[in-house]
Amino acid sequence: MQDPFKNIKNDFPIFNQSAENNIIYMDNAATTQKPTAVLDAMSNYYSSCNSNVFRAIHRWGEESTREYEKARRQIAGFINAKESCEVIFTSGTTDGINLVASSFCRKHTSPGDEIILTEMEHHSNIVPWQIASEQYDLSLKYVSVTDRGELDRESLSRLWSKKTKLLALTHMSNVLGTINPVKAIIQEAHSHGIPVLLDGAQSVPHLPVDVQDLDCDFLAFSGHKMCAPTGIGVLYGKKQFLQELPPCKGGGEMIRNVYPDHSEWNSLPHKFEAGTPHIAGAIGLGAAVTYLNRIGMDTIQKKEHELTAILLGGLQDIPGIDIYGKAEKRGGIVCFTREGTHSHDLAQYMDSRGIALRAGHHCAHILARELEAGDFLI
Ligand code: PMP
Repeated sequence: MQDPFKNIKNDFPIFNQSAENNIIYMDNAATTQKPTAVLDAMSNYYSSCNSNVFRAIHRWGEESTREYEKARRQIAGFINAKESCEVIFTSGTTDGINLVASSFCRKHTSPGDEIILTEMEHHSNIVPWQIASEQYDLSLKYVSVTDRGELDRESLSRLWSKKTKLLALTHMSNVLGTINPVKAIIQEAHSHGIPVLLDGAQSVPHLPVDVQDLDCDFLAFSGHKMCAPTGIGVLYGKKQFLQELPPCKGGGEMIRNVYPDHSEWNSLPHKFEAGTPHIAGAIGLGAAVTYLNRIGMDTIQKKEHELTAILLGGLQDIPGIDIYGKAEKRGGIVCFTREGTHSHDLAQYMDSRGIALRAGHHCAHILARELEAGDFLI
């Protein structure tokens, strides 16, 4: 069989620039580059049928709606959602988590209730819960992280209480690369009657994710980290949860009827998609999952595993480098510090050599503090 990665850079026009403008791009956890298949799908939409969705009776409007809903079905298939109405288009992971934090806490919590998070969360899976906890008088509990960079399952088992209302955790750490054993954790949460939200920002682009197999109640992820454009993402939710949650944004298309003093909500998924959506973005995300599926998520995970082993092996041989995160199950994210060097200086030096790295606290203050690494992470 032909190696699907042999000429893969040719799929990405950004890498076809002149040598002096080109870089070795290793900042994929922040955002990925876009293949021609995605750029063409979006450009084709704008140049063939650009119109608003659900509103128009004319042929372009109908074609736009068909393409937008086709993308929803493609994405539902990609994560194996039972029904495509369980796929809500959002602007990204952050937006999806904010939706759940706002709507779930409004519907299902009372003062004094508790939400469980972990110390390895990205700020996107912390701050929305802090805002909700201030509004609804909740408290936040944190699962600790071991020296290996894995979740401390015993600390989780001590946190369950009668007041726990939800567990929100990352599937793959954007700092340590750790792949959390979310299937077992979800089973544990469900045995306490607690629903689980997964932050899939780093997992959905890099490994096969099957929401029915994992049995997660919510899953949020971003298109731009998986070859699709910025400004589009997905919140998956089990139909039963989404049906009972109130919307958190009001506007066009999310209503069935509007009266002077109240409104009635539209059915799923439209209840959560107020206003004109990012139609081209959704179509781009549909094209991106088709692109990734063509390579195969198993194949992608296996390749990343091989590349990560090479990178870790090389880094270990460099004096003064400290690698963070030694989890048994891990993805392709590798994080380190260099003794006596600020990460920004190192990143600038690497840029001068044509290599793009991420430097700083990686949007994970709590974990960076726990690792005693501050802004020094690469
Ligand atoms: N969660 C994790 C684990 C992430 O890595 C990121 C992005 N770095 C986010 C959430 C936020 O994603 P976005 O900015 O696309 O909403």
